[in-house]
Amino acid sequence: MMNNKYKILFVEDDSNIRTVITTLLETEGYQVIWAGTCKFAQGLFTSHQPDVVILDLGLPDMDGMRFLEFVRRDSLTPIIVLSARSNDRDKVRALDAGANDYVTKPFSTEELLARIRMILRNYQHRADSGKLPGGKFQVQDMVIDYDARQVFIAGKEIKLSQTEYNIVALLSEHCGKMMTYSAIIKGVWGYPDEGSTKKLQVNMANIRKKFGVKPGEARYITNELGVGYRMNGDNADIQDS
Ligand code: CA
Repeated sequence: MMNNKYKILFVEDDSNIRTVITTLLETEGYQVIWAGTCKFAQGLFTSHQPDVVILDLGLPDMDGMRFLEFVRRDSLTPIIVLSARSNDRDKVRALDAGANDYVTKPFSTEELLARIRMILRNYQHRADSGKLPGGKFQVQDMVIDYDARQVFIAGKEIKLSQTEYNIVALLSEHCGKMMTYSAIIKGVWGYPDEGSTKKLQVNMANIRKKFGVKPGEARYITNELGVGYRMNGDNADIQDS
């Protein structure tokens, strides 16, 4: 992590957490600007154009969700939500509103740093259009050929059903982002029905088996129970929880 001058906007009203995390991020070479309220954060976001936002949801003037919506009105800047709220509904709400990832307090600083690195890498990926020439996409040793609708791992073709392929392709288009079950279902089937989450889980289990991923391993795709799935970028240092 030498020479990274990525700018992080840290929105947090708790001064203890703010000091600890700001020091940590600066030690890692990031440039940090911070705000303790939604209103101040909006001003900083507009004037500084940060590369990443780390957002606490419990802020004194407004719900952090409002800031999230403000950013998503016209920007794709990655947002990691940091919150004491641990129930799945809040996570789903934040992710569906456009958060890229979610870290629940208390969290390990290593975990937070890993998430930031992954998001920056994937965002970089996407800025380079995320894809290799000729309609291909690669993370780790997995290659997707969008034109041929084929997936390869370590050069070997993995035979997927149409639905399985559609799920993998969709996750790859949002690589690095935790996608909720309902967002994936909408993207793949177009509409939700009673059995869709189950259907998605069955398909995912098949995909993992075909990819040769052992239970509990998060090599290509991470599952957060009750929330959704994320295709991981190049780093394998985030494990299934
Ligand atoms: Ca707070």
